[in-house]
Amino acid sequence: MAKKDNPTKQYCSFCGREERNLLQGINDSFICPDCIQQGELIFKEMGLLGKKTKNTAQSLDLKQLPKPQEIKAFLDQYVIGQDAAKQFLSVAVYNHYKRILQPATDDGVEIEKSNIVLVGSTGTGKTLLARTIAKMLSVPFTIVDATVLTQAGYVGEDVESLLSRLLQECNYDVQQAERGIVFIDEIDKIARKSDNPSITRDVSGEGVQQALLKLLEGSVVNVPPEGGRKHPEQEFIHVNTQNILFICGGAFDGIERKIAARLNTQVVGFENAGKRHQIDKNNMLQYIAPQDLKSFGLIPEIVGRLPILTYLEPLSKQALRNILTEPKNAIIKQYKKLLLMDGVELEFQPEVLDYIVDKAVEYKLGARGLRSLTETIMMPVMFEVPSRHTAQYTVTLDYAKQKIEAADMLRLQSSL
Ligand code: ADP
Repeated sequence: MAKKDNPTKQYCSFCGREERNLLQGINDSFICPDCIQQGELIFKEMGLLGKKTKNTAQSLDLKQLPKPQEIKAFLDQYVIGQDAAKQFLSVAVYNHYKRILQPATDDGVEIEKSNIVLVGSTGTGKTLLARTIAKMLSVPFTIVDATVLTQAGYVGEDVESLLSRLLQECNYDVQQAERGIVFIDEIDKIARKSDNPSITRDVSGEGVQQALLKLLEGSVVNVPPEGGRKHPEQEFIHVNTQNILFICGGAFDGIERKIAARLNTQVVGFENAGKRHQIDKNNMLQYIAPQDLKSFGLIPEIVGRLPILTYLEPLSKQALRNILTEPKNAIIKQYKKLLLMDGVELEFQPEVLDYIVDKAVEYKLGARGLRSLTETIMMPVMFEVPSRHTAQYTVTLDYAKQKIEAADMLRLQSSL
């Protein structure tokens, strides 16, 4: 085939086309660049190809696995506060990977999977925590919004789609994906809307929870190959979710009332025993318990599959102030680095940072707002200063006020 009738011309042994740039194999066989590309695609779809990087989950071993205190110390570099959540996460992640890496024994002790649920207002660092853990462990990580998931057969994404995304993250290397981390955001949005589960079919709520349950429990799931199945014979990719760590996050708006209602009934019991506990009404989330998630509308089976339950605290002014400057990639550090590349040393009057925090609180912009506020102030600076041939530039309070007062705060609010 390679030589066809004309011995001077060369042909691809796969597609038969004449081609000058051919790769030669044994027995006078050739392959053209197009066929190589096509082959790569097919192998990827079958899950047989994937980049193997150093320090992947496969290369993790028990000895090099970071201990919970090391995991927390790493988180501390990127996430301000949230000590309770950091501790829970560090232990849960450590145990999860110990479970994966445990040597085979016949002592009958089975370490169970420890999926995690993080409860806390939006913008308090839930996604950031999950993302930072994945960064530390160099495992595939993906974020999925639970609100886009629907029951199979309905408009929206099937729950299997979250495994497709995980596979994409690691170039369809199934083995790697099977040890990855999936962050399911807004899990509270698929809560059952009504207390009576049987009135009508709850397409976006309970149906999705049932579908998710299968994944959380650990089972082999058929995932369509890259780009979806193009014809019925095309093989599904089989992904075992047994060792995938699921971290769920949600604001669970109003759950404080459920917590309070539960505590009230319990407090009566405490009082009888003569030891009434002081309850901190400003931070009810710290008392959260699995039954509160059930009262909120998560089905008991899902709650059972999310055994690690922890909370994030609302961010205080001081925490917001620290977020601006302290994390390893704090926004202020980023601006300083950018201008330093132009030879300019950037400074901020300390009052500017307090002012940004005050505005974030005043307009209820939270931690996400810190970035947009800082950007509003810094945009003109970043435009002008690199051309100024100056060695130093200080952002003053007057300047910051002027820029923020001229900005459309409503647009800022809606862009978050
Ligand atoms: P959530 O998932 O809770 O809605 P995110 O983790 O997405 O919130 O936080 C949004 C952004 O706000 C982050 O990217 C980060 O810049 C900042 N942020 C929020 N909380 C913290 C925190 N505790 N420490 C540092 N940065 C934070």
